[in-house]
Amino acid sequence: MILVYRYRVKSLNGLLNQQSRACNFVWNFCNDRQKDALRFGRRWHTGFDLNKLTAGSSKELGLHSGTVNAVCEQYAKSRSQKKRPYLRYRGKKSLGWVPFKGRELKREGDAFRFAGNTFRVFYSRVLPEGKIRDGSNFSRDSRGNWFLNVVIEVAGAAEARPPVKGVGIDLGLKDFATLSTGEKIEAQHIYRSVEATLAVAQRAGKKKRVKAIHAKVANHRSDFHHKLSTRIVREFDYITVGNVNAAGLAKTSMAKSVLDAGWSSFRTKLAYKAVKHGAWFEEVSERFTSQVCSNCGVLPDSRPRGIADLGIRNWICSHCGCVHDRDVNAAKNILNKSSFRAGHGTPEVGTPVLQGGEDVKPVSCHSHEQIKPN
Ligand SMILES: [Zn+2]
Repeated sequence: MILVYRYRVKSLNGLLNQQSRACNFVWNFCNDRQKDALRFGRRWHTGFDLNKLTAGSSKELGLHSGTVNAVCEQYAKSRSQKKRPYLRYRGKKSLGWVPFKGRELKREGDAFRFAGNTFRVFYSRVLPEGKIRDGSNFSRDSRGNWFLNVVIEVAGAAEARPPVKGVGIDLGLKDFATLSTGEKIEAQHIYRSVEATLAVAQRAGKKKRVKAIHAKVANHRSDFHHKLSTRIVREFDYITVGNVNAAGLAKTSMAKSVLDAGWSSFRTKLAYKAVKHGAWFEEVSERFTSQVCSNCGVLPDSRPRGIADLGIRNWICSHCGCVHDRDVNAAKNILNKSSFRAGHGTPEVGTPVLQGGEDVKPVSCHSHEQIKPN
């Protein structure tokens, strides 16, 4: 599988600043050629065409020829992905970027060698054995720190675990996540906690301080997501998450909390960690998960309905008399939507028969009995 390892660069930041300006120059050159093609009704340039047009420029620009090619190819790729006739120019305000070909980067102990220079990094974790791929780059964040992003292909993903222990996760605002086991993980409200400090810094016009606060919030959030997703992947073999539509909710009055929660980045982390550790990950529709009774499977009259009933945390099913915590019930319904529960596991695993409830017992894969909807 392909992973990206990110290291903060300790040395030669000045050189990288200079090279990123040259990269912007190449990018803008590509943009100009594209605009020419538009103006004169010519065929639009591919990465290959742009490589030919920039051939021999690397020495004068002070860039590695692979870097010039990587910029050209990325320009063509971005242009076609964004389905635009041309792109924005890169300038002073763009975040620094120096791409290169994977084969040009060599390991040198705890440092890296690229284009005749040794870049020392904070070697925060060991880079695994594997082929370094194209797409690797140096990038600068808004605070001016340089990072080395190494795209690396490591030996295949872990072998799939038998789907024995499953969990459904309901992502929310009051609690960041509610597990079908009944566990609730509190929301962090990271942004809210620094809002006052941020306002002071903004009024005082302290741009550096503002950037530092934003970076701190982002780091804090990502750390929280990493720790939680690692824990869940270690604990459970198959993970089912509801597809909360963050973009849609961000338009409502709950926008600030929604953006602070960062559900999609959490789901992404959960998904890639699941693959890495051989667990199963699945995203299912959230429809009706908060309304159906997870015990008897009907839509009782006493169910909470829509946004207006968001305040209702507990309810009793008028059909079977089961007492529900709103979020735990939703998490259980999400787990019930998992393909392992619905009785059609992936062919490699066969169809494991699972009993209802959280404490699922492993059952032989040879049984052909179907699970009854509960
Ligand atoms: Zn019920």
